Amino acid sequence: MAFDLHIQACQRCSKLFRRVRSPFCSACLDLIEEEFVVIRDYLTEHRGAGIGQVADQTGVPEKTILYLVREGRLSFGTLGEAFQCERCGALIQEGRFCDRCVGALRKEFLSSENTSGRSDDTAAPDLELYTGMHIRKPRDS
Ligand SMILES: [Zn+2]
Ligand SMILES: [Zn+2]
Repeated sequence: MAFDLHIQACQRCSKLFRRVRSPFCSACLDLIEEEFVVIRDYLTEHRGAGIGQVADQTGVPEKTILYLVREGRLSFGTLGEAFQCERCGALIQEGRFCDRCVGALRKEFLSSENTSGRSDDTAAPDLELYTGMHIRKPRDS
């Protein structure tokens, strides 16, 4: 994998920033604080509301709500353990990526292994195989 794990796009405004702990940049975190209050107020009036409903009614993106859930600041009784795919933001039950992204990431990984990229790493085993075939001689003859 060639990308720097510490630099990522804010999941809200797509600005690149250095990841600290949240998937959002500091400007968005400020906004999320405001949205948190909105959601909390909504939930106190509408107990049992689902995430989709809250997002619709408050205008707060689902991603933001899920983030707050993961942070333990909001809870939805029906939701259980919810996670968000770190690539596309889809709601998933476990892990870091949804099935779709796991497939895509695997493909990306494999293609970068096979074609270009870090020639040092990829060339070594090939060379070994190649020379191995050439110097191979019958051992006991
Ligand atoms: Zn942002
Ligand atoms: Zn995904």
